[in-house]
Amino acid sequence: MIVDGKRMWIDSHIHVRGWSEDGTGEREFSFEEISAVMDADPALLVWIISLSFPGIRAISSDPATGIPWTNEGQLRLVEEAPPGRIFGSIGVHPGAVDESLAAIERYAGEHGFVQVGEVLGYSMGFELDSPAMVKIARKAAEFGVPVQCHVSTAGQQDGEQMRQTISLARMAPEARIIAAHAIGGRNSYTHITAAEVYAEMGGENLWLEIRDFNTRECVRASVERLGSERLIVGTDWIARGQAPFPPYGILFPHESAEENPYPCTVASLEGFLRESGCDEDDIANIAARNSIELFRLEGRL
Ligand SMILES: [Zn+2]
Repeated sequence: MIVDGKRMWIDSHIHVRGWSEDGTGEREFSFEEISAVMDADPALLVWIISLSFPGIRAISSDPATGIPWTNEGQLRLVEEAPPGRIFGSIGVHPGAVDESLAAIERYAGEHGFVQVGEVLGYSMGFELDSPAMVKIARKAAEFGVPVQCHVSTAGQQDGEQMRQTISLARMAPEARIIAAHAIGGRNSYTHITAAEVYAEMGGENLWLEIRDFNTRECVRASVERLGSERLIVGTDWIARGQAPFPPYGILFPHESAEENPYPCTVASLEGFLRESGCDEDDIANIAARNSIELFRLEGRL
């Protein structure tokens, strides 16, 4: 989709902290320093922002108090944003189900947050397909927001988190489930194959994020085997350290434009889609259309 001559590019996997990096107080940067990153790209960027390290640490160490504290910080960040460019994501933990369900009601219901996530089972020490997670996914479905589950496999058996993610999708069929950074990294083919089998078995509630657009053979396989309707943008951009922050389009886990293997722009990522065999329709699906539908952004952009 081209809006006012600009490519609309919706990235649903962006991490910006709502509190200071050490978690002791106010965030050390202004919202303008985040807008500066978005406005530096010629594309029309839209971001869905989720928690970062202070929130991850707070929720991991004490989910019942960490969830409300983290989400409050994210709300303060999102409320400073100009309308239509930034949307919020809700932090949860199945170890504090009541607080997680309350957070979905409050932030999706009252504040217009559009996603639950990033759900980090591997780093927070839980499985993605427990009965408590099914409750969380059902509550998310009730409020019309998808659940973004981390599926890369740092220090785990290959594909294990994708297995849990699909298991959750199967147990909560009314929920919409996102496999976060499914494309990019050494397990991409496993993720694509798992999603393909799930779809062939009738599963209709799973979407995959593309993180590493330069892995053209994986992107091509995902489009050919799943269809571009199942793919969304999730680059895992993180506001590391202090402003000025790294440019958008940087390849995870690089930290500066100088060390990135290609120019950090949406144009580079779009070029990789083209080189992977995507046509205009596929690009519009992946860059914006699928996310507009999945996150119910129609009329809010
Ligand atoms: Zn992430």
